[in-house]
Amino acid sequence: MADYNFDFLFIGGGILGSSGAMALSKKLEEMGESARIAVIDLDLEGEHSSTLKNAGGVRATWRNRANIELCKYSIDFYETIREEVQFRELGYFWLHDEEWWQEVNRNYKLYEEYGLPVELHSSQAVPEFLPFVNNLEGIAGLSISRKAGLIDHYSLREYYRREARKRGVIFFDRCYVKEIFVSNGRVTEVVAFHLKKMSENAQNKSELIKTYLVNEKTEVQQDEISFKCGVLINTAGAWSPIISRLYGFNDVEIKPRRRQMVVIRCPEVDLSHYGILIDTSAVYFHKDAENILAGYSNMDEPYGYNLDFNFGGMEEDSLFVKYIWIPLYSRISKFERVKFIRGWAGLYAETPDRSGYLGKVPGLKNVYECGAHTGRGLMISYGAGTALSDLILDGGFREELKHAKDLSRERPSGELFEELHL
Ligand SMILES: Cc1cc2nc3c(=O)[nH]c(=O)nc-3n(C[C@H](O)[C@H](O)[C@H](O)COP(=O)(O)OP(=O)(O)OC[C@H]3O[C@@H](n4cnc5c(N)ncnc54)[C@H](O)[C@@H]3O)c2cc1C
Repeated sequence: MADYNFDFLFIGGGILGSSGAMALSKKLEEMGESARIAVIDLDLEGEHSSTLKNAGGVRATWRNRANIELCKYSIDFYETIREEVQFRELGYFWLHDEEWWQEVNRNYKLYEEYGLPVELHSSQAVPEFLPFVNNLEGIAGLSISRKAGLIDHYSLREYYRREARKRGVIFFDRCYVKEIFVSNGRVTEVVAFHLKKMSENAQNKSELIKTYLVNEKTEVQQDEISFKCGVLINTAGAWSPIISRLYGFNDVEIKPRRRQMVVIRCPEVDLSHYGILIDTSAVYFHKDAENILAGYSNMDEPYGYNLDFNFGGMEEDSLFVKYIWIPLYSRISKFERVKFIRGWAGLYAETPDRSGYLGKVPGLKNVYECGAHTGRGLMISYGAGTALSDLILDGGFREELKHAKDLSRERPSGELFEELHL
């Protein structure tokens, strides 16, 4: 069995593991210290990871200070690497029903306090900002967040990894964590299957990875690798409860839930000047090259590791027609003729209050976690990685991110509820 020894070991190299590894290596460099840092993942490409399945939306307009601070801090950073990560700060245009309009009005004071430019407009003003909207029924108001927009998830993840590698971080691919050893309240060793004998056929490879991620398949015998570690960080996304179980922490809060998106074509609707648009039906959509990307989070979706796309296409009784096309066409008649191109399913890691966890794992001396930021993992990633490295190396958070402490496991379940969540 191959044997490694690291000071810091991340399990999961999606957007949060990659950001965390970059932040930790950078902070150590700034402190003039060095350490051995590694990230292990079953599939670094991340074909089935949440990071490559998301909508690319970025905003800081939340109800809770922790989420606002971490997202705002991230956006300030994305503005400095705009070109590299294709950050298009074209705003969030949100058509609210009565309930969500009241929520956004209640949160407005906090937006002002944090210097977030948010405009609130009456429903009569909608055609002035969104001329293609020709049905105002059910709209109580329009909010426009200007410090918000779209980012390319792939480029951002690669940016984090590049910066981490520059500082010596090692990324191990094809490692499926199957066992974790704990001694005297400390994780001492992580054992992973190394899937080096994986087929080079793309379809077979994809199916095998999916089988591991969906069914926790472990019966195929592979080589084993041992990773001894000083500190373990769980950044396994929707799979983090499975990792938690391996070190003896029974996670009853984080649950995986399928979320689906589609790509459609409709040349009649020009969204070039807008970031993300959200309808009162909770359908969200934005321009994506020549096409339009649209999503809808079905709140009746059961929890579970389901990665199968089942919204269907243009068939009359499909879920795509019911949840996405009819609401879009009802609001904007130019959506009458659309071409369905494709769709996919990815996982949210959900918590009862739809806020994530960032902090030390209770009952263990050397284990941290960062994840379950539901539909916010991409936008919060830079701030979350920074806060995590502050906590690990300084034992607390910098002033701008001081409310990150609220994201610890110690908070009562459901305390940081986020209403304006898709
Ligand atoms: C349809 C959809 C739309 C979304 N839209 C947005 C949006 O607009 N804006 C936004 O900010 N967020 C959005 N999100 C949420 C965002 O994508 C996630 O919060 C974020 O990607 C989570 O990142 P992560 O690094 O925690 O998890 P992941 O990217 O899933 O990474 C976890 C990694 O852990 C690895 N892993 C798991 N188990 C093991 C194991 N046993 N051994 C080794 N490796 C393992 C996996 O291979 C994976 O690569 C959306 C999500 C979905 C599904």
